[in-house]
Amino acid sequence: MIPTTLVTAGGGVCRAGLSAFLELLLPEHCAACGTPAGFTPWEATGARVRGLRPWDRPHLCRECATALFGQGRARVLDGRSLAPDLPVWAATGTSSVLTAVVGAWKYHGVRGLGWPLGRALAAVATAEPEESRPAPAARADVLVPVPLHAGRRRRRGFNQAAMIADLAGGIAGVAVDHGALRRLRATAQQARLSGTRDREANLAGAFAARESGGGRRVLLVDDLVTAGATVQAAAAALREAGWEVAGVLALGLAMSRDDDAGDVVDTPDADS
Ligand SMILES: [Zn+2]
Repeated sequence: MIPTTLVTAGGGVCRAGLSAFLELLLPEHCAACGTPAGFTPWEATGARVRGLRPWDRPHLCRECATALFGQGRARVLDGRSLAPDLPVWAATGTSSVLTAVVGAWKYHGVRGLGWPLGRALAAVATAEPEESRPAPAARADVLVPVPLHAGRRRRRGFNQAAMIADLAGGIAGVAVDHGALRRLRATAQQARLSGTRDREANLAGAFAARESGGGRRVLLVDDLVTAGATVQAAAAALREAGWEVAGVLALGLAMSRDDDAGDVVDTPDADS
């Protein structure tokens, strides 16, 4: 069946229709290893998931999902070194495989990767390792995804942080507040800036937060955290508006050289 939206009245090809058509037509392949079989299960959580469409399939095989995020229970890394008052709970350290999977998701239109990635984030939100009790989800009233600038979101078609926040919030039973934080201006891609000072200057005044109305507790959600400048700028804007920021939930956290978490690669922050 050819989607009726495939060709627009003006004769141009509708990108959403084309993407749906290709997704139905082409066999599903794992974004990490290329295998055409054994995909992670996916189903809706009942909550609305922004950016995921009915035809988006997971595109990550069970073996790669397990290799990336562990079996059943996510590894929780504490990024205390980024900022003492902003712990980061992440599913894994960043690695070349995670970077490739997240790249396919964000830059190459494989939206369905949001299913397994959102589940990995939910596992982080509800995990209770010895050193970080209670679970991150129990420390917050709401999840707040790091917003993309409107222009970038339009071009991509979705905000990756909002997508995984919706899924993780639905699974972990935590509300998601999509209006708490706004991105006031587009910023340069963090990964393209070399120094800490450049990264901070790039983000100065980039975020504004709605007034909290009484110290509500927030967990910020981002996809990959590298130097942490993005989440620190977002947390500062929220705190200024009266929110209590408990920390950050992320899929991947670049580890310091002292850690043994595997590959350390230069990955873009979530705004890229
Ligand atoms: Zn695979």
